[in-house]
Amino acid sequence: MPVIYFSSGFLIAFLFPRLPIILITRGKGFNTAFPAHPEPIPLSPKLTQRVLHMRMIYWMGFVVAIIPLVFGLVSIKWGNSAFGFGLWLSSGWYILSRLQTFVGGQQPPWTLAMAQRLQLAMDEASSETKCCSDPLLTWETMQVSCTTCSKTLDEMPRPDLGRKRVDGFFTGGLRLILSDGYPIISGTSENKSAIDDSEE
Ligand SMILES: [Zn+2]
Repeated sequence: MPVIYFSSGFLIAFLFPRLPIILITRGKGFNTAFPAHPEPIPLSPKLTQRVLHMRMIYWMGFVVAIIPLVFGLVSIKWGNSAFGFGLWLSSGWYILSRLQTFVGGQQPPWTLAMAQRLQLAMDEASSETKCCSDPLLTWETMQVSCTTCSKTLDEMPRPDLGRKRVDGFFTGGLRLILSDGYPIISGTSENKSAIDDSEE
């Protein structure tokens, strides 16, 4: 029985801080400005804003993780200690892994720098040195490129952007939990078409 309590505590605390990204952003009204997943998204101030929203919701998960952490400690002290330890370990791990960002660890899937790079690409497309006479920039799975002349402007893979996923709520949600919102990158171009099918 302690193993079951521990596992359920662990699982609950694992899912809990990840829920904001899965639940908040998938609503219909939230995504009217964008083409359906997994189509490329045209660059616009709305898209830049979306990256910043995703970034905010990502860090909200960090705050949300404190709830199972506290419940875990309370449960260890006064309730079911196996359940509490599961909660505590899982949310503690989550918080530590997020904190690694500040000591040179992996960057979050959505960053300010990412929004700035999108802005730079848009500036570039309306400048003297633009790629062609009528640039139409979109964010594809692996890069930002111009639809008109197919020039790649920025080799920045696209993370999940909160659109309702083509693979449905449950499969899409599971994929999202496993990838944590990061683009799934395989450096080789051979697998690129496989990624195009499966990833946002
Ligand atoms: Zn162009």
